[in-house]
Amino acid sequence: MEEVLIKPSVKACVFCGEEVLESAIKCKHCGEDIDNKTITEYLVSKEQGEKRQNKDNINISFNNDSPKSRGVALILVMLLGFLGIHRFYVGKVVSGLLYLFTGGFFFIGVVIDFLRILLGSFSDHQGKPLTKW
Ligand SMILES: [Zn+2]
Repeated sequence: MEEVLIKPSVKACVFCGEEVLESAIKCKHCGEDIDNKTITEYLVSKEQGEKRQNKDNINISFNNDSPKSRGVALILVMLLGFLGIHRFYVGKVVSGLLYLFTGGFFFIGVVIDFLRILLGSFSDHQGKPLTKW
C-alpha cells in the first residue's frame, strides 16, 4: 500500500511549518489561528514586507557615497596634487599615474580636482561622490 493513500489530508502551518489537518482552524503545534482568512492576510503582509525590503535595498545601493574622506582628499590635492596622490587615494590609479608623470596634468588637473573636491563633486574609482568630510 502506498503511504500517500493512508495519509490524512494535511497542510503546513504558515506560522510554525508543522503539518496540521487540512480542516484545522487552529494549529495544534503553535496555537495560531490558521483559517483561510488569516493565512491570506499573513501571506499578503509578508509579501508587502518583502517588497518594501527590496525597495529599501535598492535605495541603499543608489545612495552609496564614497567611504573616502573629502577632507583627506582636499589636503592631499593641496599638498601632493601635482603627484596625483589624491587620485591614488580614491582608487583612480590610471589617472593618478598620468598626474604623476605630467605634474598634476600640467597643474590644470590639480586646480580642477581641488575645486571639485571642495564642491563635493569629486568621485572615486567607482563613481561614488566624496561627500563625507
Ligand atoms: Zn503552527
